Amino acid sequence: MRRLLAVLAAATLAVVAPGGEVAGSPSSAPAMYLTFDDGPNPLITPIVLRILERHGAQATFFPTGRTLDLFWGDEEVQDLLDRGHAIGNHTWSHPTLSTLWWTEVRDQFIRGGAAVRERTGFKPSCARVPYGEQDPGITAVLDGLGLALVDWQADPQEWRSPSREEALAHVQRWEEDGMVVLLHDRKWQTLGILEAILEHYGDRGWVFPPLPECRTDDEAAMRSAARVAGDSPIGGFEFPRSGPRSVRGWAYDPDRPEGGLEVSVSVDGHSFETLRTGTDQGFSSSLPHTVGRVCVWVGNEGLPREDAFLGCRTPPWPLD
Ligand SMILES: [Zn+2]
Repeated sequence: MRRLLAVLAAATLAVVAPGGEVAGSPSSAPAMYLTFDDGPNPLITPIVLRILERHGAQATFFPTGRTLDLFWGDEEVQDLLDRGHAIGNHTWSHPTLSTLWWTEVRDQFIRGGAAVRERTGFKPSCARVPYGEQDPGITAVLDGLGLALVDWQADPQEWRSPSREEALAHVQRWEEDGMVVLLHDRKWQTLGILEAILEHYGDRGWVFPPLPECRTDDEAAMRSAARVAGDSPIGGFEFPRSGPRSVRGWAYDPDRPEGGLEVSVSVDGHSFETLRTGTDQGFSSSLPHTVGRVCVWVGNEGLPREDAFLGCRTPPWPLD
């Protein structure tokens, strides 16, 4: 019964927040799409997440199914999504696809997608091909599975252990609004390179949203339907581009599917407002006219497990 309630409650979520949450990239600010392949790594990925957090940046992760199976369960993947990041398909075991039969290629993406769905309730809508191989057979398989191919412009090649300066110079050579940067959450060199990119471009007003083709319209509903009693809450938030300045989001806890979850909003490091989700799982809070960094937490209603952290982000409005 509880499970049914959860599914019913989740079904209404799509109305609240299509796509879970979409990072606002105002038309005036150039955007860079950071992508991390081949994770998760139990040591490196949590640090990558902290660095992104500190800079209010979001990214798109392309884990392999096999690595997910080794290292991450539902809570970790849902936490990644709570923080506004997106997830894509990077096959099951990272083979050189051009050496395989097309049925084996298809199987690689089906198994890679299933590993994500087991943990999140939805299959990724985008994929990255191992080693960036391009061939018509692979493209046909991706099309058949409804997966959008994600390529990249800049590849700082952490495997060569470049210095931060060399890596940043490489990204600058490909600098363009909407560029995709290939990184890997499995080597420590990536951490310094990521810091260098975020500092350099953050200072110049660039924004770092997740890839839109990796968001699924009913992600929030499907993620919620995958939760069972005792799980931690999940959610997401965005800054609406029109209307009064506000933060708007959704949160779902299988232990309280009827809503009423406590949501805490902090602004510039200070507690700003504590509110409750409605029966539609939504919440919304007006923000002061001048606001820097906004962080959101959701209180856990079930077993004494963790609250959910929905991340910290800076609204895309000008500080006037
Ligand atoms: Zn890879």
